[in-house]
Amino acid sequence: MIEPEIIGEITEEKLPVSWHSGEICEVATMKDSMKKGGAGSNSFKAALGGLKGRQGQRNLNNLKITLLCGFVTILVLRGTIGVGNLGFPTVNEPGDGIREAEKHEPKRSLAQVVEKKEEEEPEPESDPSKPYTLGPVIKDWDQQRAEWLHKNPGRNVSSNGKPRMLLVTGSQPKPCDNPVGDHYLLKAIKNKIDYCRLHDIEIFYNMAFLDREMAGFWAKLPLLRKLMLSHPEVEWIWWMDSDAMFTDMLFELPMEKYNGYHMILHGWDEMVYDKKNWVGLNTGSFLLRNNQWALDLLDIWAPMGPKGKVRVEAGKVLTATLSGRPEFEADDQSALIYLLATRPAELRPKVFLENSYYLHGYWVILVERYEEMMEKYHPGLGDDRWPFVTHFVGCKPCGSYGDYAVERCLKQMERAFNFADNQVLEHYGLQHNTLNTPKVKRIRNDTAHPLETLSHSSWSTRTITQTF
Ligand code: UDP
Ligand code: MN
Repeated sequence: MIEPEIIGEITEEKLPVSWHSGEICEVATMKDSMKKGGAGSNSFKAALGGLKGRQGQRNLNNLKITLLCGFVTILVLRGTIGVGNLGFPTVNEPGDGIREAEKHEPKRSLAQVVEKKEEEEPEPESDPSKPYTLGPVIKDWDQQRAEWLHKNPGRNVSSNGKPRMLLVTGSQPKPCDNPVGDHYLLKAIKNKIDYCRLHDIEIFYNMAFLDREMAGFWAKLPLLRKLMLSHPEVEWIWWMDSDAMFTDMLFELPMEKYNGYHMILHGWDEMVYDKKNWVGLNTGSFLLRNNQWALDLLDIWAPMGPKGKVRVEAGKVLTATLSGRPEFEADDQSALIYLLATRPAELRPKVFLENSYYLHGYWVILVERYEEMMEKYHPGLGDDRWPFVTHFVGCKPCGSYGDYAVERCLKQMERAFNFADNQVLEHYGLQHNTLNTPKVKRIRNDTAHPLETLSHSSWSTRTITQTF
């Protein structure tokens, strides 16, 4: 790495210690008074009588010290005022003003600048006697939306000609307990922005609690309803957890497969409807059609969510009904499985449980195999060979209490990010040195004819040859 050249900024700290005290300049001042023949000069000359013949030599020395002192003064001024003007007022340079202010203001650490934490407000307790609702009852959403689309023709189609889709994700409103968690949230949103940019999908990141009662993993329910009603132009809403990353940047959802279905999740029919297994599907990445059916589903899904007694009691029902579920408060995933398993006649015909590719992929079974995948396969497959999504279930890099060691989670999140990022950087002739490092290397030389290399992306060429 090239170290920045140190120029101009000569500060007091960089000078030898003895120069700080000003003792040399005191000497020079004494010599000055002698030269001027001031009050002290005669007695000083008398005391030094025997040395009178070396006056010329002394004057030369005096001159040298005076020059040296002047030089030191210039150096100090340069350090204080800046290189350009050496203390002489020139043009207005706002940067210099800031630098000057920085010099005199005591340095404040980031911790001091970060706002003081708000006093923790008491958590709202929901009233179990009142049935919880996500909002005013809506029964004619399909009709309202159809009328809106009639007045706004073509708005529900994205620029690639496909039904307009909005990817929704989000995280807590406050900083992570550990700042490195915020760094991985940034990586995770960069990863989603890249995928959405490449596939004409809009994106919404939420950090607000829309409903304090529906905190945590339940926050997605009021948010999805709000977005559906505020975006009639959107045909599909795709929820994706903040801890899930796209690891196949080329794969596209086979939407034609889902005609007649209103909800798509990664899961297995048998596990949900027969075994009632609490991991029979995953709610970390799923799609919901913007229609009345989806609003109705949210309405019957939400009542187990309100924080407090309701959520705790509902958790007991879920653990008693679902296989393999540990004892803990109600979560959105278990609640959905419970609904599907207990009301299959109404819901099953509209819910597609997908497992032919990883709409959600459990990180533990995937992350160690990325190198092998890179050797043998190529993006665009989305399945076991090149997973579409890697989801860090149970990791909680932003919070304090996860099911897995935080070091293991962060290491593997870094690898998943780089595995995906290689597919983005490839377009720019760059690759990560290894999956374990953010450092990148050049894989193509820049050329004077950049447009000629555009069509020779190795991933897309390989995909085309293997797919057809
Ligand atoms: N989440 C949110 N706001 C919050 C807390 C969580 O939007 O205040 C979202 C976030 O996207 C997170 C998701 O809820 O990824 C579900 O939580 P998590 O991924 O930690 O659960 P897990 O997948 O481990 O079961
Ligand atoms: Mn998650």
